[in-house]
Amino acid sequence: MKSFRKELWFNVPSRRGFVNITPQVEDCLRESGIAEGMVLVNAMHITASVFINDNERGLFNDFEIWLEKLAPHEPVSRYQHNSGEDNADAHLKRSIMGREVVVAITGGKLDFGPWEQIFYGEFDGRRKKRVLVKIIGE
Ligand code: ZN
Repeated sequence: MKSFRKELWFNVPSRRGFVNITPQVEDCLRESGIAEGMVLVNAMHITASVFINDNERGLFNDFEIWLEKLAPHEPVSRYQHNSGEDNADAHLKRSIMGREVVVAITGGKLDFGPWEQIFYGEFDGRRKKRVLVKIIGE
C-alpha cells in the first residue's frame, strides 16, 4: 500500500469565504500515483471546514445567510467563548459544516456523485491556514 500526505495552504482575505479546492486535491492525487484507494481531506483548524457540495454561486450565498442565522457573528458579546477573542461563531459554523471529507479513488480519479465538488469553508480568515490531504491505496 502506498501513502501520500500534503498540506494545502489558504489565506482567505475576508473573515468568511468558500474556496473550491477540487483542482488542488486532483493535483495531489496525480502526484501520489495512487489509482485505487481513499483520500481524506480535512481542515487543520477549528474555525474552518472542508465539505462537499454543488459548485453554484447562489448556494454559497444561501450557506452564508443560513450560517449567519444559526450563529451570527455580531454581537460578539453574546458568546461565552469571546472573552479575549471574537470567533465563537466561527467555531460553531465549523461544527455545522464539518471537519473533513473522504472520497473514494477509482481508476485514478475522485469517484464523485453528480455535481460533487470539494470546498474549503473559512469562518475566521485573513490569515494562513492549512488543509491536510492524505491518500492511501495502490
Ligand atoms: Zn476561538
